[in-house]
Amino acid sequence: MVCCAVSNCKNTSVKTSKNKDGITFHRFPRDKERRRQWERAMNREEEWRSSPFSAVCSEHFGCTDFYLTDSGLRRLSVNAVPCINISPCQEPVPTISRLPPVYIDPSDTEEVIKLKNKVRRLEMIAESRKHKLNLVWQSRRRLKKKLECMKCMVKHLIKIKDSTSLAEQYNCEVSH
Ligand SMILES: [Zn+2]
Repeated sequence: MVCCAVSNCKNTSVKTSKNKDGITFHRFPRDKERRRQWERAMNREEEWRSSPFSAVCSEHFGCTDFYLTDSGLRRLSVNAVPCINISPCQEPVPTISRLPPVYIDPSDTEEVIKLKNKVRRLEMIAESRKHKLNLVWQSRRRLKKKLECMKCMVKHLIKIKDSTSLAEQYNCEVSH
């Protein structure tokens, strides 16, 4: 069974099929430098390295990363690097240290201190929401790109279908 090396991706060769879902699996490049490029793109733990069996599913490549062979097979282009829907495991998470410490004046009453701490807590929540929002925007952009990709694939397929039906028609006419 082939599993996708992207840590939050559940695609495996058992669960998905090329014909049904259009998902294909691609082994890491043999070239050392390109292999390292893919490993970095995985955005996994610092010490993670690929094995000869590691593969990435086609969901993480853009449509321009693929080309069709003359026999209609979908191949990954040599310079492709996975970049779509990669795990955010190493996204910088906002920490308390980013905000200056709460300033407490000796003359502050207990209530003022409480309020100051409350403000800080809300600031932290706001910051983490901002961060989440950013991630959502990022994935929205990626999905939009993917949608465009799909649209152009559909157009391409319709074109192929039209030309084959034309060819069939032509063949019919010739054989009659
Ligand atoms: Zn995947």
